[in-house]
Amino acid sequence: MTLPLVPELQKIQNIPLLPNIRELDRRQLGLLMKSLGEPGYRARQLHRWLYSNQLPDFETMSTFGSKLRRKLSESWSIRPATMVGAISEPADRTLPDSTPTAKFLIQLADGELVESVLIPSDDRVTACISTQVGCPLQCTFCATGAMGFRRNLFASEIADQVYLLDKEAQNRYTCKVTNIVFMGMGEPLLNLENVFESIATLTEKDYRFSISEKKITISTVGLVPEMEQISDSRLKTRLAVSLHSADQHIRERLMPVAAKYPLDMLSGAIASYNSKTGQPVTLVCMLLSAINDSVEDAQKLVRFAKRVLCKINLIDYNPIVNLGVKTGCSDSKTMFIQRLLDAGMHVTVRKSQGATINAACGQLATFSGNNGSPLQ
Ligand code: SF4
Repeated sequence: MTLPLVPELQKIQNIPLLPNIRELDRRQLGLLMKSLGEPGYRARQLHRWLYSNQLPDFETMSTFGSKLRRKLSESWSIRPATMVGAISEPADRTLPDSTPTAKFLIQLADGELVESVLIPSDDRVTACISTQVGCPLQCTFCATGAMGFRRNLFASEIADQVYLLDKEAQNRYTCKVTNIVFMGMGEPLLNLENVFESIATLTEKDYRFSISEKKITISTVGLVPEMEQISDSRLKTRLAVSLHSADQHIRERLMPVAAKYPLDMLSGAIASYNSKTGQPVTLVCMLLSAINDSVEDAQKLVRFAKRVLCKINLIDYNPIVNLGVKTGCSDSKTMFIQRLLDAGMHVTVRKSQGATINAACGQLATFSGNNGSPLQ
């Protein structure tokens, strides 16, 4: 049976399997219900069944009459992402109640794969989720960049990762997911519409899974126009900018896209974010041996950081075989941190979690390539 759908919906329907209703966003669900002659509130009900209750079929959507349920099931399928693999770091036996980081392989409805990570710590369980299959930006230190770009994730596929990880967190750590970071595979700002849509779903106040916007951090390599969109969005999410160096030449070497957005432009976008949201950004820097860990590098970072409202987060690099960069040594790291502290910077130093299972920053990839250990 062919439904009288608007062209946009017809295009989505034009695939061999029954189309996956989870590819529709709220607006499109509204169009669908309208095309079926249903009132607007039916779309909100359908969204709730799909994302709060996470029902696997239309038959159990009890607020819908049998005619509507039949129409939906004749034309649409419900195919959420599924978890197909998991690997945990070995528990640290020197620590009581050691809670190891775990990485998960998530299969999307079309068979594509992404990775997501659960990072437990004393007071939180953080879900690190992916927004793209691969990534087009090809940062030189990153396994995801090395695998190329395949496609953007739908908003539902982004939210599904959180639902799957939340169940795992409850099983593994008897704790729900408390924080979400958009720092997995892909550049979230290249898929911003779906990131916004997923955040709207994940923060719905009376849904079974609901989290505060303030517990969500979006990470970017510094895409200036999209950062402006975030600044204007009125979201209360946090923003992390992968700076890695306050030297334009080094930045471009590490992240080729930085050539498009020079440091002056980037600091302008951060200042704009500061003034529009009242929030600092987190400048993320990964220290790499003989690349960005000198005294001069620390001084340049201080000069850049003083222009904006920010915290600095220093992270360890996790070596990816064949990607040709090495983590900084502990002496240079100590010197670097001291320079920042002497200049009055707010600095956090994050010990990398998940490196032994290739779950740490820059290590996520779903191919049997350079990182050497995809999930089985
Ligand atoms: S670091 Fe982020 S933006 Fe750069 S290639 Fe990797 S996933 Fe893409």
